Amino acid sequence: MKIAAIKENHPGELRVPLIPQTVDKLVKLGAKVEIEPGLGLSCRFTDDDYRKVGAQINPARETLLNSADIILRLRKPLLEDIPLMKKDCIHISYLDPFREVDLVDALAAAGISAVSLEMLPRTTLAQKMDVLSSQANLGGYVSVILAAEQLDKVFPMMTTPAGTIKPARVFIIGVGVAGLQAIATARRLGGRVEAFDTRPVVEEQVKSLGAKFVKIDLGETGQTKDGYAKALTPEQMQLQKEGMAKACAQADVVITTAQLFGRPAPRIVDRAMIAQMQPGSVIVDMAVETGGNVEGSEIDKIVEIDGVKIIGLGNLPGRVAQTASQMYSSNLGNFVAHFWNKESNAFCLKLDDEIVKGSLITHGGAIVNEMYKNIMKK
Ligand code: NAD
Repeated sequence: MKIAAIKENHPGELRVPLIPQTVDKLVKLGAKVEIEPGLGLSCRFTDDDYRKVGAQINPARETLLNSADIILRLRKPLLEDIPLMKKDCIHISYLDPFREVDLVDALAAAGISAVSLEMLPRTTLAQKMDVLSSQANLGGYVSVILAAEQLDKVFPMMTTPAGTIKPARVFIIGVGVAGLQAIATARRLGGRVEAFDTRPVVEEQVKSLGAKFVKIDLGETGQTKDGYAKALTPEQMQLQKEGMAKACAQADVVITTAQLFGRPAPRIVDRAMIAQMQPGSVIVDMAVETGGNVEGSEIDKIVEIDGVKIIGLGNLPGRVAQTASQMYSSNLGNFVAHFWNKESNAFCLKLDDEIVKGSLITHGGAIVNEMYKNIMKK
């Protein structure tokens, strides 16, 4: 069975989908691995590094695509690549399916089995392949590093002959995977951290990291069966803003990570809240790519509003591309290994498996994902 890894061509993207360590694992499983030349160069993996662990380097992109049984890549495929792929080929990548309707239709029409890694169920079994978690974790780390660089104060408390320096105050909004890592990173740097999430179940996790949970009574909030937050009503949003205004005003750094599955991110920090913050403070809007949590944030820019710096840089995991690639590649390797049948020495797409049911979007010439069909009314 041939697995092909395709080089990423998204502008500015330094992450790579497959690193030599994972190729080694796949070859040992029994797969034949072919890669595009230069696949790992942005993370300093040479073609020779891949060759040494058994990969073949194929410079003919067209034959690479049309001979592969499985294609691994980082981001969604290009529309023009789809006619080059073999019918029934399994394509595994980020797909952004809710915003890529034409692409999903084209994959279905071409008979490709497209797996969208964003749709993997958040279960214990799927954790080893969960790219959302591995990349969000790094994004949370990077958000604090960026904030520390932009802030003109230090994070830790310092007792010096020149006087005592107070620790920076950090407020994290949204405590999923990214938020938890942001809390941990800000604490490691010595910041005084507060956090809030609409899911009250995270309070214990916040406390266990040495941060304070900001309590705001929003009434019934709840979460989906996969643990995702539900959208708030306009009244609840207003209560949240009022409850958070004080924590924002006191903070030197605010990091927002709030997301709603399959929907635009909630707008939770407005201009009035920014106006209450100290000039020189920093906000990192980690949701800028899905619509933004912060009024006025701009994608890939650092803007200043009322003296507050608002960081809206996208692709935060891409700023630690080596580590991010290592984790993404390992997630992909675990996905393939999980469904590898030793007897037939082949990948087996088990259509009744919970992980496949959750993440397979197109198969056999049709859109097959129930959640996608429900949300998109397909
Ligand atoms: P996410 O990226 O979808 O959202 C980030 C956070 O924003 C969430 O904690 C969410 O509750 C919060 N949020 C949404 N609206 C908000 C608002 N208005 N104000 C403040 N916060 C708001 O979350 P995620 O990191 O992908 O995690 C989603 C769920 O999956 C969580 O329950 C997490 O514990 C769970 N999870 C489980 C596993 C596993 O068991 N394998 C792995 C990873 C995550």
